[in-house]
Amino acid sequence: MLKSFDFVVVGSGVGGATVAKELSVRGFNVTVLEKGGYHKLGTSWRALSFYTGSFWNFCPGEMSDGEVEVLRTIMVGGSSVVTLGNGVRALQKEFKSLGIDLEAEFIEAEKELNVVPMPEEFMGKRTKKLMDASRELGYDVKPMPKFVNFKKCKNCGMCVTGCRYGAKWTSQRYLREARKAGAKILTGVSVEKVLHSGGEVKGVRVRGSSSFSDIEAENIVLAAGGIGTPIILQRSGLTHAGSNLFLDLFVSTFGMLKNGGMRDEISMATLIDEFHGYDFGHVFIFAFFEETPCV
Ligand SMILES: Cc1cc2nc3c(=O)[nH]c(=O)nc-3n(C[C@H](O)[C@H](O)[C@H](O)COP(=O)(O)OP(=O)(O)OC[C@H]3O[C@@H](n4cnc5c(N)ncnc54)[C@H](O)[C@@H]3O)c2cc1C
Repeated sequence: MLKSFDFVVVGSGVGGATVAKELSVRGFNVTVLEKGGYHKLGTSWRALSFYTGSFWNFCPGEMSDGEVEVLRTIMVGGSSVVTLGNGVRALQKEFKSLGIDLEAEFIEAEKELNVVPMPEEFMGKRTKKLMDASRELGYDVKPMPKFVNFKKCKNCGMCVTGCRYGAKWTSQRYLREARKAGAKILTGVSVEKVLHSGGEVKGVRVRGSSSFSDIEAENIVLAAGGIGTPIILQRSGLTHAGSNLFLDLFVSTFGMLKNGGMRDEISMATLIDEFHGYDFGHVFIFAFFEETPCV
């Protein structure tokens, strides 16, 4: 067994970084174990190598058996680094109908992440074309709420390769706060499974380059993402983990527009509320170059 820690947090995405920050500022001894590393952000589509799955054919993602493309990244900050900065309230009505009112939590999160409506002057001409067409069809199109600091944003449209200007909120900010409060962030450490005996958690087994080692911990927080966490749980003996996986589905409707590529303007700049919800996921409309490889 290696060193003993109060709290081991597995994964440094939104989930792991938030827990690590909250615990360490309250004085707990926290160590984050992160499988990925730091990457140069927003430089080129080659940066997509930190997505799991096939990046060589430019369309990242793992395919499920049912041919649903699943996107996630293995890196410090997890998928928060590659978001489009959309800070949309999700499932608020549905939770309310179950007696859970999340209004105060949404307000707190929006304040902390500085969520603002996408300013009209940042909308590119393709976005405006799509917006006009949607309005003509009678849809109520609104600017997308974004956790982006538009004073720093250069409108390069490279959000999904990570923002090199530091304009977009990512969980790396919480990791910095956690580190300031004393947390350790260990990168390149892949957790294999949770060690337990007699119904009690004892630690985690981590994979090194050629061997495994064990880390003792009193409390373990698994935050390796919707796919990474069930994999660890399955290897730890919970064979049914992940069988109720819920995916944040969205349907993309592509339109062919001559020279209509979205790369040099921010994608998902607008929102139509009636297309956003639990029943059908989210529907987004994109314009792409006629010869774009991803269509
Ligand atoms: C392209 C894209 C765009 C998105 N855009 C938006 C958006 O605009 N707005 C929005 O709200 N949401 C968006 N999302 C969704 C959002 O990013 C995720 O829901 C959120 O980041 C998930 O956080 P998480 O901490 O649960 O998991 P993750 O971000 O997946 O973090 C899990 C972490 O665990 C690490 N890990 C995995 N396995 C192991 C292991 N065995 N050992 C150690 N570490 C491990 C990973 O490297 C990763 O750092 C987007 C997602 C993608 C992929």
